[in-house]
Amino acid sequence: MRYAVISDIHGNLEALKKVLRSIKKNKVDEILCLGDIVGYGPNPNECVERIRKMDIKAVAGNHEYALADESLLECFNPIAKEAALWTKGTLKPENLKYLACLPFTAKLPDILLVHGSPIGPRSFDYILNVIEAMSQFHGFEERICFIGHSHAPMIFSSDGDVFRKSVSLQEGNRYIINVGSVGQPRDGNSLACYGILDTCNLTFSFIRVDYNSRKTAKKIINAGLPVFLAERLLEGR
Ligand code: ZN
Repeated sequence: MRYAVISDIHGNLEALKKVLRSIKKNKVDEILCLGDIVGYGPNPNECVERIRKMDIKAVAGNHEYALADESLLECFNPIAKEAALWTKGTLKPENLKYLACLPFTAKLPDILLVHGSPIGPRSFDYILNVIEAMSQFHGFEERICFIGHSHAPMIFSSDGDVFRKSVSLQEGNRYIINVGSVGQPRDGNSLACYGILDTCNLTFSFIRVDYNSRKTAKKIINAGLPVFLAERLLEGR
């Protein structure tokens, strides 16, 4: 099987469209989504509708959860909070309902999908380094746990290695793989990011995709969303 794994689209339609086109070229069997389809970006409805139309298996991110439970907004910084309230006011009722029904985890053969961390899928903890990753491996049984949330593409191996580039999966090792962000990369690279897992060749590859980030940035400003959200897209921070 070949899976494309996408995460943290954040209402960025230009990035999502280019990533879906790249996925089509790369011929996968299934697309999986790790949440934060909305939040920050100017096109939440259009992004949700693409995911729904393609029947992509998805889990909830903290930005989805905050739409259903506003008490979570207290954990958001002021810019994220302002954007989340704008998103809630912009989403069509049927799209809000779809997002509210997303599960916190999803399973495929030997693969777990979660937005933040396998041990606390509802608390949206970040896994930012190898120490935090090593403490999570006992929290799931599958060989691979895919995560998003930090927007930083990274592969943690159960033997303590960390990779930032594509890898061959080693026999006997398990992996926590952060697939990066489609719509708001924060690793100093402004290109959209996603991953492809090939379970026959046992490889995982990061794919970076150029898109019209200036167009998205303009839309963010025209929508009245915080200007910082436009600036960070152009710099990938
Ligand atoms: Zn996110």
